[in-house]
Amino acid sequence: MYQTSVNQEKIQIINRVLILNLIRQEGICSRATLAKLSGLRQATITNIIGELIHCGLVVETGLISGERNRRAIGVRLNDERFKVIGVRLARGMFDISLAGLSGKPYGIWEHRTGMEGNLPSSLRAVRSAIQNLMREHPDDEVLSVCAAVPGPYHEEEDRLLFVTGLDGWKGCAVQRTLSEGLPMPLHVINDANAGAFAQFWHNSGDAEAQNMVYILAGQGIGCGMLVDGKLLLGQQSIAGEFGHSSISFDGPLCACGNRGCLEQYCSVSALREQIAEQLRNGASSCLREGFITIPAITQAVRIGDRVACEAYRRVCGFLAMGIVSLINQLNPGKIVIGDQLAEIHPGILLDTVKRTIENSVNPLISRNIAVEVNRLEESPSLLGAAAYAAQQALANPDLFLAASARNLCAHSRELA
Ligand SMILES: [Zn+2]
Repeated sequence: MYQTSVNQEKIQIINRVLILNLIRQEGICSRATLAKLSGLRQATITNIIGELIHCGLVVETGLISGERNRRAIGVRLNDERFKVIGVRLARGMFDISLAGLSGKPYGIWEHRTGMEGNLPSSLRAVRSAIQNLMREHPDDEVLSVCAAVPGPYHEEEDRLLFVTGLDGWKGCAVQRTLSEGLPMPLHVINDANAGAFAQFWHNSGDAEAQNMVYILAGQGIGCGMLVDGKLLLGQQSIAGEFGHSSISFDGPLCACGNRGCLEQYCSVSALREQIAEQLRNGASSCLREGFITIPAITQAVRIGDRVACEAYRRVCGFLAMGIVSLINQLNPGKIVIGDQLAEIHPGILLDTVKRTIENSVNPLISRNIAVEVNRLEESPSLLGAAAYAAQQALANPDLFLAASARNLCAHSRELA
């Protein structure tokens, strides 16, 4: 008897999570559409929606065009009331966003920090920014926070393993430091995984997005992988260290301990170094040594500067070689490339990658892969952090049903 009621309770929780996620995917939909998509009985849907409306997670929208063109009352997530916070940590700065449960950002704030060397003090600055944001928005009930961090993050040990070029960040307990004194759960994920999650979350109706790879090509090279709509994290949640695949067994030593890692040949740092070497050798260019910034390189590539264009094409070629290996290992339906390297000249990058894939991958495989440059308007890692926080909140609807909204609100205000 006891076992039966425990099982029924579990089924109820699973059904609530299913319905919340369907509402999230659909944006606005009718109860009949939810019954059709979930396979649950209309009466079950009516009960669940009743509970979700009662605790404020879902609101009715008025009449919409429903199943078989019948007019029906629509429901949607209550984005105005319940919020999540996404954070993206990068070298020397962090972004913070306040988003609805749908992942839609209501505001994004950029903070500059001197965080190149000392991560713990910068994490304290992030925590203060989260607390300030909650104080400034006392009517929003923040349910969950997620921070996207560069470099492999060992979730179980709460440890940032290393970040290329930033020794002071190594071994830092990001979750413990950031969550101290915060009343809601705080999650930490790798920035490339967050980017992949954003591509999935904001295109989840797209069949190719179910098995996709997002490549973050910036100061480092990483990737986030989705398999059947789920992030592939690996045993220690550090899968996707794509930049540390070696393409030269006797190449330069990398911070990860390996030699000849891909990111030593195709990160934006590698691009800068290649251009600097050309300039030292007397090559003629509009770029000047000591001023080889990303905006300067971008401008030089776009006006056809020979040194900048050649270096950029070479670097894109190395990245393309890495992508060919990824295709052979994972068989993705879609590859999205984002971050600084992709933003310099998306056309040249896409052309190089597509040509390399055509030349190196069996056409039966390559013709079924969509290759794109990121099209999300905000940083995918930041959007993904907020989306991940929202997913975690939606996966625990019992939290809202058990604790009254009033209680949650009081917790938020205690911070003030
Ligand atoms: Zn490496």
